[in-house]
Amino acid sequence: MSNTNITVIGSGTMGNGIAHVFALHGYTVTLVDVQQEALQRAMATIRQNLDRQLNKGLITAEEKEKALSRITSSVQLQTAVAQAAVVVEAATEDITIKKQIFQQIDTFCPKETILATNTSSISITALAAVTQRPEKVIGMHFMNPVPVMKLVEVIRGYATTEEVVQHILQLTKSLDKIPLLVNDYPGFIANRILMPMINEAIFALYEGVSGVKEIDQIMQLGMAHPMGPLRLADFIGLDVCLSIMKVLFEGFGQPKYAPCPLLTNMVNAGKLGMKTEEGFYDYRKNKKEPEVAQQFTFRQFS
Ligand code: NAD
Repeated sequence: MSNTNITVIGSGTMGNGIAHVFALHGYTVTLVDVQQEALQRAMATIRQNLDRQLNKGLITAEEKEKALSRITSSVQLQTAVAQAAVVVEAATEDITIKKQIFQQIDTFCPKETILATNTSSISITALAAVTQRPEKVIGMHFMNPVPVMKLVEVIRGYATTEEVVQHILQLTKSLDKIPLLVNDYPGFIANRILMPMINEAIFALYEGVSGVKEIDQIMQLGMAHPMGPLRLADFIGLDVCLSIMKVLFEGFGQPKYAPCPLLTNMVNAGKLGMKTEEGFYDYRKNKKEPEVAQQFTFRQFS
């Protein structure tokens, strides 16, 4: 790729990880957000995560410094995307926000720029439809934490051309990641399979079949999952889990995707998992080895 300029829009959990990985692999990155404070937090996080890689011997001090020198941050969308070969949008999971961003970048970017989105569940085809270049819109679904996880789910929208697909597959490989190609249907593959499993674990708890720890340990010890489904739901964010279940339910119209009422209740109560320090577990005393949240202790079996 002769133009190595990448613009990442949204500097939260995913955006800072995506910027980190591109910069470490030699790309010039502009990281954009609407909030200056979010950009400052993102730059501090990138530095910390590069330090962690340095301490583990995964990168050298020179690679760390070079990566940092390749990232600039900006709140000016128009100038930030003006030279981009590829834009990776990783803003808040909200279709109205994303459609507005896609409309704007479509007018601000050169006509050859590829517009990628890191959305977990929103239709690539629907985002492409608000642009004048639907054939250049594609999903690039990185996994959290981005610097660690190898997979990128590449999602082909209804109008995405083969040339654009091949370009993004190659780009992903250049980041030392493994791209796997899927078509644009609700939840793609990762969340179509993961979220119903998490939702089923929440139903099992809701129906009193077993307790929080038991459900998680059964999946860890029995299925060799590194993290149980309820703990994973807390890590992802219960609001995110609920919004993905709603996309599956609306997209397929089948009762098997109906979100568990307990999940809806917890989101309504503001118990969103790790980010609010309480979900199925209580993270206030110990983040690494949390206790089961008070609400669920009466369901403890052990
Ligand atoms: P986040 O809430 O941590 O960060 C979102 C950022 O986007 C915020 O800093 C916000 O200020 C910024 N933003 C909002 N509107 C904007 C705009 N108009 N222009 C520029 N920036 C804007 O969210 P996140 O967890 O990083 O998720 C980002 C995207 O990645 C979502 O589409 C999400 O579905 C997807 N995703 C998340 C995960 C995960 O585990 N968190 C995993 C895979 C994919």
